[in-house]
Amino acid sequence: LGAVGPVASIVSVGDELLVGQTVDTNSAWLSERLTSLGIPVERRWTVGDSPERIADALAAALDSSQVVVFSGGLGTTPDDRTSDAVRGALGVNSGAGESLENPLGMAPGLAFEANDSVIVLLPGVPRELRAIFTAQVAPRLVSRFGDSRRQSFEHRIHTTGIPEPVLAEQIEEVLGDEMGDGDLAFYPDLRGVDVVLRVRGGTAEAARHLFDAFERRVSGVVGPFRYESPGGDLVEAVAGTLGELGDTLAVAESCTGGLLGKRLTDNGGASRFFRGGVIAYDDSVKRDLLGVSASVLQTEGAVSRAVAEQMARGVALRIGADAGIGITGVAGPGGGTEDKPIGTVWYAVYLNDCVRSEHRTFLGDREAIRERAVQAALALLYHWIMDDQRVMDGQKVAVGPER
Ligand code: ATP
Ligand code: MG
Repeated sequence: LGAVGPVASIVSVGDELLVGQTVDTNSAWLSERLTSLGIPVERRWTVGDSPERIADALAAALDSSQVVVFSGGLGTTPDDRTSDAVRGALGVNSGAGESLENPLGMAPGLAFEANDSVIVLLPGVPRELRAIFTAQVAPRLVSRFGDSRRQSFEHRIHTTGIPEPVLAEQIEEVLGDEMGDGDLAFYPDLRGVDVVLRVRGGTAEAARHLFDAFERRVSGVVGPFRYESPGGDLVEAVAGTLGELGDTLAVAESCTGGLLGKRLTDNGGASRFFRGGVIAYDDSVKRDLLGVSASVLQTEGAVSRAVAEQMARGVALRIGADAGIGITGVAGPGGGTEDKPIGTVWYAVYLNDCVRSEHRTFLGDREAIRERAVQAALALLYHWIMDDQRVMDGQKVAVGPER
């Protein structure tokens, strides 16, 4: 293997992948797992349920990869050809290979050793593939390749509220060309941008040094947009901060139609901090259920600072929560005006008898605008609580004993 260490190839099998009926999430998942095991993926193939194509891919993979992982086509139906095709290509008899128990399904996985390589066949059903890989394949690869694996270290910063190009430019400005050993990458989606610094090879300690230096340089730039969340979801961060304070939250949603409530309840345990909400789509609901003033609705319009603020306060008081969020906006595709074009959203947070609000003109289609609005409102609440805590911590430091 030399100094480079083992590399992997992935072969996804299935006609349904080639016609676009199934999205190949298995490869992405396997890539992530293999990379973090220190076995980078150099190539991936997608082939149909064809013994010839499966054999082609295997031969090409074995040219340069010490690990080849197949996904799919392991079942017992006639279209499941992977195991026979692989056995044929390897020139071993039917029944060869080591069976990998499948606790979640019928088709077991299979493992072969050939040409100094490990060949693993996993069922296509994602949860079965993941279970077998995690319980049986990963430990096997770790003991088989040991320290020859190229460990990869990653430092990830979650941000929301700053566009990728702006963030990238500001980070590159403060970094100069310092991060020579690390690969810097930006991963944007509708909710925000993750900044990832990755180091391949070297020791954990060397990586830690690089990450510390990186943190010192970029903390000023990312600070106002950053949130801490192990799983990457801002809701997790919000739940954590509210949970620490023992505070509860209620929401009043117009243009997002319940999306904020959905986000807040996507994970179990939400009842610890989330009380409930009102989908106040019609003005009469804003008025009658949330106590938004009829004259304000009339003079300012439903999409306005005052209405967002009254929604946030109204829902917190009426539901009996410590904090409230109100969102009102124009999600499109119709309904835009010159004053309030499509994408205009006002959102407000009520907390400790105070209200803060912001507005943005979000870009994108209806789905994007609603997703961005929810995220921005959550961020407003999160940063408010975090800033308060920082001030309190600062006071503690100021009056406390020397540390
Ligand atoms: P089974 O015993 O269920 O037949 P199998 O190994 O034969 O297992 P497939 O028939 O290829 O697996 O696929 C089973 C299911 O898993 C299908 O519903 C398919 O959509 C899904 N699937 C297959 N390959 C992938 C993939 N690469 N990514 C995500 N889902 C996949
Ligand atoms: Mg099948």
